Amino acid sequence: MAFRLANINDRATLVTDRGVYDLEGHGDGFSSDPMDAITRHGELHAVVAALPAEPDAQLDPATLGPPVPRPQKVLGIGLNYRAHAEETGMDIPTTPIVFSKFASCIVGPTADITVFGPTTDWEAEMVVVIGTRGRDIPASQAWEHVAGLTCGQDVSERTVQFGTRPPQFDMGKSFDSFGPTGPCLVSVDQFDDPDNLAIACAVNDEQKQDARTDDLIFGVAALIEHISAVCTMEPGDLIFTGTPSGVGVASQTFPAPDDVVTTTIEGIGTMTHRCAARG
Ligand code: ZN
Repeated sequence: MAFRLANINDRATLVTDRGVYDLEGHGDGFSSDPMDAITRHGELHAVVAALPAEPDAQLDPATLGPPVPRPQKVLGIGLNYRAHAEETGMDIPTTPIVFSKFASCIVGPTADITVFGPTTDWEAEMVVVIGTRGRDIPASQAWEHVAGLTCGQDVSERTVQFGTRPPQFDMGKSFDSFGPTGPCLVSVDQFDDPDNLAIACAVNDEQKQDARTDDLIFGVAALIEHISAVCTMEPGDLIFTGTPSGVGVASQTFPAPDDVVTTTIEGIGTMTHRCAARG
């Protein structure tokens, strides 16, 4: 049975249509730590199947933190949708462009996004959560290493991202709050085709991005094969798989404090983020 794993007040929590269930209270030998739940993701299918009818509580979105609160690695992929590569005027990559976001930028699905500069931009992305350790993982086995999928925003300060020669993305993509994720980690068996999901982003109810993940130039399996040839993938590692066309830099419109950025992926859910002024 598929599972939806959330982080509620820094406790691993299973979410069903009936409500929420604290994993330490319902799983055999599980701790409250969301990272422990991800490492043991294979056992969660049985736990969710055995949950009682009565939930512990109803879901309060304000209590949701990032499904993976302490990833070892947070990797992003540049220009991984054809139309997005075209809108930036850059060549279609023939090899995945991999950068990193510092783990300290990861926040939950309702946290504020701090606008650190005049060119702070949105990037709706599907995020892959690694569940099973591996190195040199062939594409044919890559999905077996995935705990699940979640929504992400690869928030980017464009002036900083492109401010050096040659450009080096990590700083512009790692300001505090620039890694929203959530609302839940959804296991792969929830999806008829995990390689073909609708993904959308709106700012103040104006649709900005609207695409499907089957437009990815390098799909999930290819990315895992590529990255794991360099570094061992660990449970909880995050891969931000790239953003479709419709980012702010293409139209030179950027969010301002009090704007609301909404990110939705089919079968996963919606994140809602208010933009906040730099304190
Ligand atoms: Zn991105």
